[in-house]
Amino acid sequence: MDSIEKLKNIFRDFPTVGQRTAMRFVYYILKLPKEKTDELINAILELKNKIKLCQMCFNPFEGNNLICPICQNQSRNKNLLCIVEKESDLLSLENTRKYNGLYFILGGTLLRVEQLKKRIAETKFSEIIIALNPTPEGRATSILVEQIIKNLKAEGHEPQQRITHLAKGIPVGGELEYADEETLENALEGRK
Ligand SMILES: [Zn+2]
Repeated sequence: MDSIEKLKNIFRDFPTVGQRTAMRFVYYILKLPKEKTDELINAILELKNKIKLCQMCFNPFEGNNLICPICQNQSRNKNLLCIVEKESDLLSLENTRKYNGLYFILGGTLLRVEQLKKRIAETKFSEIIIALNPTPEGRATSILVEQIIKNLKAEGHEPQQRITHLAKGIPVGGELEYADEETLENALEGRK
């Protein structure tokens, strides 16, 4: 495989990038001056070296602590837990500035089920918001997560807590990260 083909294949695996865009990226890089390509390579290496996952919520962050700035923040409501599928969903909810609780990133294909159980069993949350995407997979996962929480309760791990879901409004089959802020704000405020 020649180097053009090789790089094209790498870009093609990026989210939302198809064959043609992948090819455009390759040509763009070909035209970049040497110092710009070095900058790109270093930025990627730096990202991989410096960013780690928060041990509590699995949000990627940079710093010397084991937990991220959100989990460290003393002014956040520690009784509220919001379960999301991925980092970008957390970011979308943060951007609404209407949510002041904590998060748990469940992960897309490999679900962090054991970590979630541990987190819920260890902490006394008064409300757990299941904020997964209204896609078929997201809905199936929501049912699974709700069952897990209920089982934990039945085992006596946790005092009674409310389990809520985002209100309807996010387009069916859509994802939190593509919903506009107002829609997301309303879904959050109308949760039940
Ligand atoms: Zn965190």
